[in-house]
Amino acid sequence: MRSAMKAGFSIVSLTVAMLAGLPAAVAETTVLRDFTLIDGTGKAPATNQALVMTDGRISWVGPSAKLKVPAGAKVERLKGKYLMPGLIDSHVHLGLVDGITQNLQYQTPENIEKQLGIYAAYGVTAVQTLGTEKDLIFPIQQMRKGRTAMSRVYTVGQGVVFKGSYGGVPGLDQSVATPGEARAMVDKEASHGADLIKLWVDDEFGMLEERMPPQISSAVIDEAHRKGKKTVAHIFYYDNAAELAREGVDAFAHSVRDRAVDDALLSQMKAKGVWQMAATLSREASFTYKTLPFLDDPFFARGVTPAVLKELASPERAAKLAAAPNFPKYAPTLQHAMDNFAREVKAGIRYGMGTDSGPTARFPGYFAHWELELMVKAGLTPMQALTAATSANAEFMGANDIGTVAPGKWADLLVLGRDPTADIRNSRAIDAVYIAGNKVSTIWQTCIGRADDACGGRP
Ligand SMILES: [Zn+2]
Repeated sequence: MRSAMKAGFSIVSLTVAMLAGLPAAVAETTVLRDFTLIDGTGKAPATNQALVMTDGRISWVGPSAKLKVPAGAKVERLKGKYLMPGLIDSHVHLGLVDGITQNLQYQTPENIEKQLGIYAAYGVTAVQTLGTEKDLIFPIQQMRKGRTAMSRVYTVGQGVVFKGSYGGVPGLDQSVATPGEARAMVDKEASHGADLIKLWVDDEFGMLEERMPPQISSAVIDEAHRKGKKTVAHIFYYDNAAELAREGVDAFAHSVRDRAVDDALLSQMKAKGVWQMAATLSREASFTYKTLPFLDDPFFARGVTPAVLKELASPERAAKLAAAPNFPKYAPTLQHAMDNFAREVKAGIRYGMGTDSGPTARFPGYFAHWELELMVKAGLTPMQALTAATSANAEFMGANDIGTVAPGKWADLLVLGRDPTADIRNSRAIDAVYIAGNKVSTIWQTCIGRADDACGGRP
């Protein structure tokens, strides 16, 4: 203890100073005031609010009239602005692409950190990766515990794939053939520090021979629960959703997309507490376009390079996508996803917000805002969509120190110039993003050296 105090600037000496009631001279304090607060819980927006951030965490929230500005604090007035918790995307994949070329060789810490910077610049201050990350994700996951400047990472590590069936990515050895192998893989991911366990049950529109059978999925779920981990399943078909709910899965990472959900499934999900953790409407919607409809939207364009924009706009690409045998199936698939999600919400099933961004042409950050818009199109109120993307996601993920604007939470915040509860597209009116009390760089990584309109016309 003595030597720690001599060192002067260690955690131990700081704690000792605080315990002794000495002035915390090194505390970094910032006050934001006079904004309209959307606190993430679903409570109605409150005008003329203020908050105090101390060393990256929220230390006080309340009406500006009751604010006591701590000595030495930096004060910022946000009159006319809206402040809410940073968005959380519960379904992403990291480091799969360079531009829109997908290959596991691009999964490097540098590329992942670049993508986490893009998420952050779009106001997505935490993400949960769902099963295609090498073990290099675990040191990055650990960074969420401190004052990071990138989006915080929660992860399943590698998800469980049934041998020869749907799921995973080439280059990762993540398939299992027996219940014993499935349990061993769950144990391995849990021992590496996975926050939860993922499994895939699908056959790509019947193109693959077999889906993961119940004796494997039930082993995954049982073993995960024995290790104290939740499970989340990729599903497509109603029948698999019903079977997995019966087996005790904790959440679905996509909507049911082959038919309408019925009262039998809804009441099973409700009774078992199964979440619709991600509806991935933006994923399904993206597949319905030969050419994505937002290529000339600067809010999209600043998150990608001009080369990617050009590639996305090319007639050759459009022709290739339109000629794919599954292309006509995507519009009805999207419709099922939207209708079923709305039915679940109406039935009182718990739900979060997740996009499945990260694979080719499914873009970090931008898709979260598109997802919110599609959730509202499906029938939710803007407030329901925002709450799904903040406190609900945090609750499902067990992320206790993010997701709401409340004392003790990390100051991971989104400041908007317009009211997102009046029009969900106002989630895009980003004025500032804070992670752990620090303003995230407003220089978009993909904008460095660029002077086009998407990047504000200056390099
Ligand atoms: Zn996914």
